[in-house]
Amino acid sequence: MNIEQSDLYGSLKKIFGFNQFKGLQEDVVNSILNNENTFVIMPTGGGKSLCYQLPALMKEGTAIVVSPLIALMKNQVDAIRGISEDHGIAHVLNSSLNKSEVAQVKADIESGITKLLYVAPESLIKEEYVEFLRKQKISFVAIDEAHCISEWGHDFRPEYRNLRNIIKQIDNVPIIGLTATATEKVQEDILKTLGMSDANVFKASFNRANLFYEVRPKTKDVEKDIIRFIKKRIGKTGIIYCLSRKKVEEIAQVLQVNGINALPYHAGLDAKTRAKHQDMFLMEDCDVIVATIAFGMGIDKPDVRYVIHHDIPKSLESYYQETGRAGRDGGEGYCLTFYSYKDIEKLEKFMANKPVAEQEVGHALLQEVVGYAETSMNRRKYILHYFGEEFDAVNGEGADMDDNMRNPKKKHEATNEVVIL
Ligand code: ADP
Ligand code: MG
Repeated sequence: MNIEQSDLYGSLKKIFGFNQFKGLQEDVVNSILNNENTFVIMPTGGGKSLCYQLPALMKEGTAIVVSPLIALMKNQVDAIRGISEDHGIAHVLNSSLNKSEVAQVKADIESGITKLLYVAPESLIKEEYVEFLRKQKISFVAIDEAHCISEWGHDFRPEYRNLRNIIKQIDNVPIIGLTATATEKVQEDILKTLGMSDANVFKASFNRANLFYEVRPKTKDVEKDIIRFIKKRIGKTGIIYCLSRKKVEEIAQVLQVNGINALPYHAGLDAKTRAKHQDMFLMEDCDVIVATIAFGMGIDKPDVRYVIHHDIPKSLESYYQETGRAGRDGGEGYCLTFYSYKDIEKLEKFMANKPVAEQEVGHALLQEVVGYAETSMNRRKYILHYFGEEFDAVNGEGADMDDNMRNPKKKHEATNEVVIL
């Protein structure tokens, strides 16, 4: 297919109201319009959705979008419905629909007006749906959060591994994988498992130049350190990540006692309380949310000014995702991590009764975290190197934005560090 560039920009403007593509979007859209397998790696907020939504709305037939979370799907469908009514509609197919709703969705697909069909992988593998979809005109299959396919990703989901088979049964259509996870291992895994080694690969830079990275030793005074840090930023919004629910409750309480407007968030709270705390945070009725990693997936608050890790995460990948929730608007974003080797040992212990293969993966990921926490080099360079990206530690954007670059360790300290390692 040869779409005129003016048509492409016309559709971008008409459907989404944008004048320009962001980053690599235009190349990605062209690749999909040319019916080629396509792999998109862009940081969160990079604009991945448009990469498949625009071609889906321009092409004949229905594009299937595989997405892991029902809540995220609903947001996406509501958003696309708001903008694209004249261009065909979006639907969700999942376990929350009743019989007549499913029938309606099917009728709309058959009549050709459904351009985007969001499905959870566990729904897509249902015999009934496969049978139905193979009789329909499918334009392509987009797999969002494609890292869920890989055990090396931070969010492995076994159902994702069957996708290749299912897609084959439905139709021989192009596959588009999208992820914000950039490690080489995960990337290889995705391409292999989806059987698309021929894909056009589009990888955006992962540098978040406005984020400042600091790692501090975790002492018994960690809570005082956190309070001091926050008190210098009263009225600003932040997230504090802890490993355990208990720690979340403890820290939230300590902060409250110290006059800081903080709330806890973890999977142990009932759904109503969780939703309330999340809303209060989004509506600025609460400055600080103290949370386990249950908090954050799909949260897009642009003006989070700091992310504190009371406990270090289990991979650099998670660290990048979690710190990445700061400074989405391009403004200040301070990433402060408290590190003690004892916490690494704790994380190792958690893995002790997992299968050996999983333990090995977990151990390797943790070693990278240790390397990052203990390094005296440019932290941005370290993170980007982990993602397979070369960073110029002198002239690169944000090159001086970390503790090591602002306050280089004295020579003898640095030497000591090497001896310890
Ligand atoms: P991702 O899935 O990569 O995290 P999203 O698809 O959710 O990112 O997009 C992030 C934000 O960027 C959204 O608010 C979206 O409206 C905006 N966006 C996407 N493409 C463009 C564009 N071409 N111009 C301006 N804003 C855009
Ligand atoms: Mg997305």
